[in-house]
Amino acid sequence: MTSLDTDTNTGTGTTTEPVAGRVAADATDRARRIGALRDAAHRIRRHALDMGEVQGQGYIGQALGVADILAVAYKDVLNHRPDEPEWPGRDRFLLSIGHYAIALYAALAEAGVLDVEELATYGSDESRLPMSGMASYTPGMEISGGSLGHGLGVAAGMALGLRHQGSPARVYNLLSDGELDEGSTWEAALACAHHGLDNVTAVVDVNALQADGPTAGVLRTEPVTDKWEAFGWRAIRVDGNDIEALVTAFDTLRAHRGSPSVLVCDTRIGRGVPLLETREKAHFMRVEQHEWQVARDQLAQNRHSTRKGTDA
Ligand SMILES: [Mg+2]
Repeated sequence: MTSLDTDTNTGTGTTTEPVAGRVAADATDRARRIGALRDAAHRIRRHALDMGEVQGQGYIGQALGVADILAVAYKDVLNHRPDEPEWPGRDRFLLSIGHYAIALYAALAEAGVLDVEELATYGSDESRLPMSGMASYTPGMEISGGSLGHGLGVAAGMALGLRHQGSPARVYNLLSDGELDEGSTWEAALACAHHGLDNVTAVVDVNALQADGPTAGVLRTEPVTDKWEAFGWRAIRVDGNDIEALVTAFDTLRAHRGSPSVLVCDTRIGRGVPLLETREKAHFMRVEQHEWQVARDQLAQNRHSTRKGTDA
């Protein structure tokens, strides 16, 4: 007899009926959890489009691509206090790709760290939301990114410090597939494995594109998962636009002990907005004035179609 049988067999019925009931309840809870995260990802995308319109251009495609990862991170994974961004016990989320700041601001608004109204100041003079992420400007922005390849090294130092203090807090680093070109990333990967930093999880956004063109053409990094494993990391690869797969993977890695872990996420630039998914110059997008409303309409339509049958 399993512990589940023991817990649920109250003597008022057969063992199988209560177990089946609990399984059904768990499935319903999970469906609600996934549905709520899909809603959060939608709002992050919508915020990113609204911010992008302020400037008329920017790293919109990346923001739409990582929205699902950020929704799961900020609404389901991270232990943090939205009204106390510097709480010492918080999990750290390091954005080494500073140009993804638009995505992180959207997520911070969704998480309650920033007010949604403040997003309208994005990239403006005197705003706390500069176009590239800077720790001294923005609550919840842990590091200043943009000079690529430094996030994982900072994560290693933070994780060592937290372990020294006996803190259970974890350190996450969102980096891009372009950052896998940087030698400093792999030095940090060695250091994390050497020190057995199982409080570090790297999240790699593999959108197959970087500033100079398709990643495969600039510098081949595949097979990405094999490389991390060769460096002593526990690695999982998922569709980074599949909320359910992300939840399962983050749950698995949170429980992993003995080595650092990495979640390799295949994402699609412009995800959720076909107009932008198919744009040729996708790294830094110029979106015409009349296209923003089209993008919002497409996002709304796509939300409806992708939610069908999933949130019952
Ligand atoms: Mg990339």
